[in-house]
Amino acid sequence: MQGSGVVYSGDFGAVAVRERDCPLCGEGSGSAPAGRYSREPWAVKDCPACGFVYIDRAPEFEMQFETMAWERTTKLEEQRRAELRPFSYRASKRTRFRMHLLPKRMVLGYVASRIRGGNVLDLGCGDGHAMASFPDGFVPYGIEISTKAAAVADRAFRERGGYAINAACVEGLRRFPEGFFAAASLRSYLEHEAEPLPVLRQLARVLAPGGFAVVKVPNYGSLNRRIMGRRWCGFRYPDHLNYFTPRTLREMAGRAGFTASFGRTGRLPTSDNMWAVLARPGG
Ligand SMILES: [Zn+2]
Repeated sequence: MQGSGVVYSGDFGAVAVRERDCPLCGEGSGSAPAGRYSREPWAVKDCPACGFVYIDRAPEFEMQFETMAWERTTKLEEQRRAELRPFSYRASKRTRFRMHLLPKRMVLGYVASRIRGGNVLDLGCGDGHAMASFPDGFVPYGIEISTKAAAVADRAFRERGGYAINAACVEGLRRFPEGFFAAASLRSYLEHEAEPLPVLRQLARVLAPGGFAVVKVPNYGSLNRRIMGRRWCGFRYPDHLNYFTPRTLREMAGRAGFTASFGRTGRLPTSDNMWAVLARPGG
């Protein structure tokens, strides 16, 4: 990290940011020019050392607790897109509605197919709704940076023996003991995280040997990104800080001590998203 405290004013109000180097290999962000997907004041960089694509400034965590809640910038971004392309926006919103139901079942279905119960962790758990359908035997835990959402999740999780922590994930993970979790869900979370590698390293620590994490992130390597360019739905400034491809996700997972697998359908180039299972050795 090169510095912090810069304040930008934008359509989301003033926001304190800090600079980020390449989150995969640590190469300084100064060595890459702003790429073609940049949008003032956010520069999208393509790391010349490892090829990882990322925004080189992240909103300060403290800002995200209240003023910079994701749901707020997400709404503004949706408005911007609605103004850009009203027709296809409506179409994609319908598609998203259908897709919204499917991935939740995919995480649950996958986890339930491998284990019968245990402590499960949802990183970026929001209000906790994704854990609601987990059957008895699973004890839900979560970490969420939005104070309001974390309070809702905490109430729901406590009824089932778990709880939710209101913190940045890397900090929240440190509060759990080693090997505490059987499984974790990282659904539409890792692309938002300013410190994805430290988070994955902490995650490897709190997962039991043989434990695993189910990950869903936008696939920067998708056909749609190549075709749509700047209008690809995976670009969100500055909500989406990391733009993974199957290769860079596998490499980052490997640096954190995980083995990534995508199955037969986890990285289809025709999908805007990819699914991976990160496995911790042992067990
Ligand atoms: Zn790099």
